[in-house]
Amino acid sequence: MLTKREFYINGAWVAPAQPRDHMVINPSNEEPCAVISLGDQADTDAAVAAAKAAFPAWAATPPRERARLVARILDQYNARLQEFAEAISMEMGAPIDFALSDQAPCLPWHTQNFLKAFEHIEWVRPLDPSVPKDRPQPAVALEPIGVVGLITPWNWPVNQIALKAIPAMLAGCTCVLKPSEESPLNAMLFAEFCHDAGIPPGVFNLVNGDGAGVGSQLSTHPDVEMISFTGSTRAGKAISKAAAETLKRVTLELGGKGANLLFADADAQAVERSVLRMMENTGQSCNAPSRLLVERSVYDQTVAKAAEVANSIKVGPADQKGPHIGPVVNKRQWDQIQGYIQKGIEEGARLVAGGPGLPDGFNRGFYVKPTIFADVKPGMTIEREEIFGPVLSIIPFETEEDAVRIANDTPYGLTNYVQSGDPMRSNRLGHALKSGMVEMNGKPRGAGSFFGGVKQSGRAREGGIWGIEEFLEPKGISGYDFSVKDAAE
Ligand code: NAD
Repeated sequence: MLTKREFYINGAWVAPAQPRDHMVINPSNEEPCAVISLGDQADTDAAVAAAKAAFPAWAATPPRERARLVARILDQYNARLQEFAEAISMEMGAPIDFALSDQAPCLPWHTQNFLKAFEHIEWVRPLDPSVPKDRPQPAVALEPIGVVGLITPWNWPVNQIALKAIPAMLAGCTCVLKPSEESPLNAMLFAEFCHDAGIPPGVFNLVNGDGAGVGSQLSTHPDVEMISFTGSTRAGKAISKAAAETLKRVTLELGGKGANLLFADADAQAVERSVLRMMENTGQSCNAPSRLLVERSVYDQTVAKAAEVANSIKVGPADQKGPHIGPVVNKRQWDQIQGYIQKGIEEGARLVAGGPGLPDGFNRGFYVKPTIFADVKPGMTIEREEIFGPVLSIIPFETEEDAVRIANDTPYGLTNYVQSGDPMRSNRLGHALKSGMVEMNGKPRGAGSFFGGVKQSGRAREGGIWGIEEFLEPKGISGYDFSVKDAAE
């Protein structure tokens, strides 16, 4: 078992002020795989103080130099990819091949996209570009907001860290990361990458802890200017309230209940693609297409095909190679998912694949059967609430208008999906569906795009230029002389 009680503060690994042990459990076998410490107010204060002290010099470091140092994190990643993927796999249950192919590579993917976007940031720009440069004029400067608290979940752990820590540092902010207590190991490796890349002391700090402790200490801290949070809608609301007293900027990436509209003219792979997308990462994705809305004329055949695909999905431990889904992250999550499956049965949905209990052949580990309910009606619990497990609800619809109404009738609005061969309809639905993102026919969002929602999915925009701007504040300056600035550079 690993012993990882220290925190990364001011460029060094330091012992917690008051050790408070927390076991990290391997969800594949329910055994502890590491012991960490949960931080206290004194640890949070030390990390924030280090970030505050480092801020002026880092903010004043030329953007090109910041980019050079941040890019060096990629060298560390490349040298230690296997170890990094193994940590993710062990602590949150992603199958090792998936951790290597999808989870870990989120770090280089986002970093490279941020570095590209970063080149296009205009740090000081004239309000009216037609005014001659040598005439003092109104301008807008972009400045880093200050010390930021980054609070992340366990489900795509490196993805969330990369989407926050990389743009924060590029923007010139200094930060304190509190990763999920369920998946701290990959975050601690990320801190090592930052250290070995030469990120100056205090620019990036890490304190492990839980939401009630370090999470709320960061959210209320007077020296933290901004909280960037990804996690549940419940915690997002708590953080917004806690941060209100100091009027911090709060950006939130929260839960989802994505609708996937499948029409009769969808391509032949659409059903399989939709089910696999739902079950990927054992259904633990905020943007999972968890409600499959199917045009009535192809409903029966779609339900049969979806059940066949779900039944073909293998379940196994995270260290097993080959395509399969792993366990869910912990017992609490397993219990919750079982509760939803039970509720689906009680409320009259038709179980066509999977169901309650452990899959055959397992007596330990937090494994869930890939489960599909058909004939789900709008308003049923499994149609309303985010299950965060491998459970798909299939709902028939009669007309496109019906489908849009059902899709939009949710408190969430992260990603919706469309499967249709009609480009006019796809475009129309791209506008009609209320969400931050709409994905058509399995096409991924492109490099440099953002991730973010509307309504109770939160309104952050992470990724690309938008994801860097979240950490910047525009400042209006009158009488700015661009000729002096250009000469100085
Ligand atoms: P969670 O909200 O329980 O925890 C997320 C993080 O917040 C953890 O680090 C936790 O310690 C911390 N936290 C919890 N309560 C807090 C509080 N009151 N104050 C401060 N910090 C607090 O979520 P989770 O179970 O780790 O992750 C699953 C949730 O995250 C799902 O709802 C999922 O949809 C959501 N999620 C959203 C996105 C997105 O980009 N929209 C991405 C991934 C996950």
